[in-house]
Amino acid sequence: MRPYILAETNWLTVKDQQYDLAILPWAAMEAHNYHLPYSSDVIEAERISAGAAGLAWDRGVKVIVLPTIPIGVNTGQRDIKLDLNMNPSTQSVVLKDIVDVLNHHGIHKLLIMNSHGGNDFKQMIRELGVLYPGMHITTCNFYQTLKLEDYFDEPGDHAGEMETSLLMYLVPELVLPLDKAGKGKDKKFKISAFREGWAWAERQWPRVTEDTGIGNPHKATAEKGKRYFNDLIKKIGDLVYELATTDSEDFYQ
Ligand SMILES: [Zn+2]
Repeated sequence: MRPYILAETNWLTVKDQQYDLAILPWAAMEAHNYHLPYSSDVIEAERISAGAAGLAWDRGVKVIVLPTIPIGVNTGQRDIKLDLNMNPSTQSVVLKDIVDVLNHHGIHKLLIMNSHGGNDFKQMIRELGVLYPGMHITTCNFYQTLKLEDYFDEPGDHAGEMETSLLMYLVPELVLPLDKAGKGKDKKFKISAFREGWAWAERQWPRVTEDTGIGNPHKATAEKGKRYFNDLIKKIGDLVYELATTDSEDFYQ
């Protein structure tokens, strides 16, 4: 029973506890090549949040991890069977309701721990900042935290070596043998500005990849996943600690 996981703790513990910071893991429910579970992003967001929160808790900060929101923005994956989509406008309503609860109970800092590339909370945070000036909201994409090349030969973008390694380490029972996995080969945009990254358009997933994966999973190992995960939670745990211990009125130097 971890006191920093809301779903595991109880009223006896929570009622008199002051919290410095809440963490909201936000994920997606979508196909991940042939070999990874639909809940891959959920498992990543949940385990990384819990791991980072545990390290920060051990250093004395009071942090509470909220339940993972299991559905993300999957508009570009509409034609992939049972990829669930929550529109950004819906997400912003859900996020507002959660922020309202935190604000009402005097928990004035929130970290959104995002595991899904289609989710983008920045604009929602700007708008919520106007409605709730007392709240400090941070968003963090775990996959941008560390240099992936330091851990993986071909990290990949979706169900590639990085995600496959993580899941092999975290939930080996939910990963099919790699001979069942597709190659994760993706088609690139014809227009160079998109390839160079200075113009953006949404990728239509079924036109980009045949097996829903983007990135070769075949060099993935649980050992790579373990090393990456442990460094991730250390680094994000430091962020949690710093957010919790920095005065909201005093964020600049
Ligand atoms: Zn994923």
